[in-house]
Amino acid sequence: MGFDIAVIGGGPGGSATAIAAARAGLKVALFEKGPYGRDKVCGDGLTPRAIAALNELKIDYSVAHRIDGLRMIAGKKQRELQWPSTARFPNHGAVWPRQRFDNHLLDEAIATGADVRFDAEALPELEGDRVVGVRVGAEVIRASLVVLATGAQGAAAKMLGAVRDPDETFGLAIRAYAPTPRHAERHLEACLSLRDEHGTPVPGYGWMFPAGDGTVNIGVGALSTMKGFKKLNLNTLLDQYASIVREPWSLGAYVDKPRAWRLPMSCIRRHGPGWVAVGDAAGFVNPMNGEGIDYALESGMLAVSCFVNNQETASADYDKQVGERFDAFLRTGRRFSFIIGHPWLLKPGLRVAVGTQSAADITLAVMGNLIDSNTPGAAGKVMRFADNALRIADPLLRRTRARA
Ligand SMILES: Cc1cc2nc3c(=O)[nH]c(=O)nc-3n(C[C@H](O)[C@H](O)[C@H](O)COP(=O)(O)OP(=O)(O)OC[C@H]3O[C@@H](n4cnc5c(N)ncnc54)[C@H](O)[C@@H]3O)c2cc1C
Repeated sequence: MGFDIAVIGGGPGGSATAIAAARAGLKVALFEKGPYGRDKVCGDGLTPRAIAALNELKIDYSVAHRIDGLRMIAGKKQRELQWPSTARFPNHGAVWPRQRFDNHLLDEAIATGADVRFDAEALPELEGDRVVGVRVGAEVIRASLVVLATGAQGAAAKMLGAVRDPDETFGLAIRAYAPTPRHAERHLEACLSLRDEHGTPVPGYGWMFPAGDGTVNIGVGALSTMKGFKKLNLNTLLDQYASIVREPWSLGAYVDKPRAWRLPMSCIRRHGPGWVAVGDAAGFVNPMNGEGIDYALESGMLAVSCFVNNQETASADYDKQVGERFDAFLRTGRRFSFIIGHPWLLKPGLRVAVGTQSAADITLAVMGNLIDSNTPGAAGKVMRFADNALRIADPLLRRTRARA
């Protein structure tokens, strides 16, 4: 039996694709290699941008823990800011543990009419250079468009050349859950002045994302532009961060073993004949905060709208549209990551980032994924200026990147 769209991967990117496709009346199948109820290592933070995408998808998120803003900590400086109200994004986000969030989306995909199969590892099926469907074990399922929603790039992505650019930044992050009496707080907390066990400043941050269920999602993430990145021990970094927040959060012992995962921030090839990549598989993670759920939801919906508009040109149209929406901002983020990879640039940078109210407002917009190529106002202007300035500085920053 042939499908209009076959989706590989049941994270937010894959589910958004399946839901939008089924709602558009298309025949869609989704293949998830994990069992029903699989977990995904994540901070569980939904930005206001992600909430806007859930609104567009008509997903009821009332069970998620509502978040009103962000507390940024850099050394002794703290700023607590509300998510701004904008015409495009609501003034609130959420924390929704991924096991529950992803299941909710998959349940919605099934209810909408998508054929969702679990424990089904799928690989693209090629005829020449064209993807004509997917292969699950010995079974071939044909589809007019295959959507690669496989997250941080693995075997399926490699087959299509949808791999990260080896010269570009990527991230690693680790998280655990721990009980805290502050679990119902309505602000995310991000500590921007992390240091490793040798005292080297880490380009990244430590987070406390209260889940509203008795626990907080505690985690740390770091960028590959950091000096000594290859030797960085994420478990040690997490424990070190936990020792800082233990007292103010009255933090209990981790509920589970901390788990780490990759954050892809580039992709050499995100479309080709008969296929497109969405979400992490396309490298859509903001290098400045490691977040990508919102981009995964948006890119999934965009893939479907391109297919509905014109099946023949869908793949190239998608590439153009996601490029227009995300590329400039994500490129700026990657360039920025080479700056903060230099410890002597990171420290003054942090001072600026939270030093004044207007700088903190821009940091907040960046941390909320509220900026892209269409962002009006001061934040958009600053990012466009930064893009131009960093373009000039980029070769030097890469040449002098912090080396292990
Ligand atoms: C520690 C950490 C913290 C993070 N915190 C946040 C945060 O707070 N907020 C935020 O917005 N983002 C965060 N991110 C990033 C976020 O997790 C990703 O951007 C998001 O999950 C991307 O969704 P996706 O659907 O593209 O991929 P994924 O969620 O990774 O889903 C991919 C799915 O594809 C399946 N799959 C893979 N290969 C196959 C195959 N061959 N066949 C079938 N199925 C397959 C996998 O099992 C998986 O279920 C964090 C990431 C990490 C590592």
